[in-house]
Amino acid sequence: MRDTWIGEIGEATAGRVVEVSGWVERRRDHGGLLFWDVRDRTGKLQVVFTPETGAVMEAAAAVRVESAVSVRGTVVRRGPGLENPKLATGTVELRAQALTVEGPAEVLPIDPMDPEVDEALRLRYRYLDLRRRSLQSNLRVRHRMALCARNFLDAQGFVEVETPTLARSTPEGARDFLVPSRLSRGAFYALPQSPQIFKQLLMVAGMERYFQLARAYRDEDLRADRQPEFTQIDIEASFVDREYILDLTERLLAEMFRNEGFEVPLPFPRLTHAEALDRYGTDKPDLRFDLPIADLDPWADACGVEIFTRARRAGGVVRCLRLPRSLSRRELAETEEAAQGLGLPGLGSLEVGESADRGPIARHLRPQVRDRLLELTGAGVGDTLLFAAGERPVVCRALGALRLRFGQLLELVPPDRHAFAFVVDFPLFELDENGQPTPSHHPFTAPHPEDRSRMAEDPLHVRSLAYDAVLDGVELASGSIRIHQRDVQEEVFRILGMSPAEAQSKFGFLLDAFRYGPPPHGGIALGFDRMVMLATGAPNIREVLAFPKNARGYDPMMGSPAPVDPAQLRELGIQVTVAPRG
Ligand code: ASP
Repeated sequence: MRDTWIGEIGEATAGRVVEVSGWVERRRDHGGLLFWDVRDRTGKLQVVFTPETGAVMEAAAAVRVESAVSVRGTVVRRGPGLENPKLATGTVELRAQALTVEGPAEVLPIDPMDPEVDEALRLRYRYLDLRRRSLQSNLRVRHRMALCARNFLDAQGFVEVETPTLARSTPEGARDFLVPSRLSRGAFYALPQSPQIFKQLLMVAGMERYFQLARAYRDEDLRADRQPEFTQIDIEASFVDREYILDLTERLLAEMFRNEGFEVPLPFPRLTHAEALDRYGTDKPDLRFDLPIADLDPWADACGVEIFTRARRAGGVVRCLRLPRSLSRRELAETEEAAQGLGLPGLGSLEVGESADRGPIARHLRPQVRDRLLELTGAGVGDTLLFAAGERPVVCRALGALRLRFGQLLELVPPDRHAFAFVVDFPLFELDENGQPTPSHHPFTAPHPEDRSRMAEDPLHVRSLAYDAVLDGVELASGSIRIHQRDVQEEVFRILGMSPAEAQSKFGFLLDAFRYGPPPHGGIALGFDRMVMLATGAPNIREVLAFPKNARGYDPMMGSPAPVDPAQLRELGIQVTVAPRG
């Protein structure tokens, strides 16, 4: 069995007899010699079997790739011209003297070294897929980032506390995964959507500084960067304000990402939620490139262009995106089509020319109005302005999406540029599809002190003390200063349409805890999987998890979820009838 890691072998070990262990990655027959590439966790080494070894070479000839082997032999320098500069061990090779086939491999269902294998098969044979160097490296980055977070938070006085996985449903806006109870028949645990309530109770308990690399579970439709179970770096602290949490978060993120080779300038730029929507059309702005959306409202009121003035009179907005070049006729047509897909009835355009501009609105602009437009948008000769008019959220979101599209199309994002940002002052509530107020973050988020008095009459215009951290247009973290006064918490429940009895039955334990000296507190949760995904440049979140589910929440390796034994159901007192989807 191994006495030397392959990573330790090189010029300096030439002449030594060593035993390496690992997997046969490749094999080649060459003029009576047999060559293997043997791989362990630390590297790859060429192993040579020569005819003089007799039975050893014969045994080696029968070994299939990806078998687990140990080889004893002498490290020798390769002859001139036979070196392989692509291998760290490429100046030497191992002349085999003895071979143990530790675990023979049958013919493989997938080749773990082939980058093109279909993902369904990769997940089915994940234990082979994980032999892939990129996946092993991702898991190592994941480990390093977790360790870095733990060390950083420990040094700041935070204590890692584990909280239950079998819990009660807490409202984080998603569906719960439920677990039936055998001892309380007919009742269910819920897997926590986050440890939110537990961490708040730890603050009431006087822990003061809590963190946890916590598993959280949400039964949502999956996307590239979502899994039904995921890991958060969950943080909470007492007697702190928003500034404290934002400062802690940016230092934590800087530490973790700098450790992975990112440049992370501090402090992070901060935008209010309203600014993010107005300037970038989204609450997760990608600040790797500029191209802000210009607000043309006051200009539009008196610009003399009928479609704009009409939109303003109807209570709408007029916004504009400046592109630093002209668009071909085809590009313009494609952009207009994309704009319609984004809910805009139309898109005005203007190409700024030396003496005359091009585009349908060009002739409607008086010289002074045009000058003011160029001033407001910062546009110069050769630039294209894209205009949208209508309801603010629709216009902003659509231009935000077009901004991202042009960021890519015009290659405005240099490959190694990254941009962190904080978005603050989210609204406390938003309307759900039934027109009912629902929390923008979660119902424990404190209202902004400046807006507190407006809560009863005008809840939809109350800002909150919630914040997000964003990296390259991806939401990395969300948190808030919490409500710690019982009456405010009750008022929020009331605005959410919950009767006092319902609030008491769902959250009685929290409301009760708030009777007994609750400290002011706040925190944040960082999406750890997404962070690793961005740090490694992995194309999706499954590449940074050892055993992910597929896009339908199914694990093809274990075959889960799966029906269970009728005896198990009998013990739970459960009968299953599967109703058709409806
Ligand atoms: N529990 C919240 C979440 O998972 C984070 C927080 O408010 O700390 O999004």
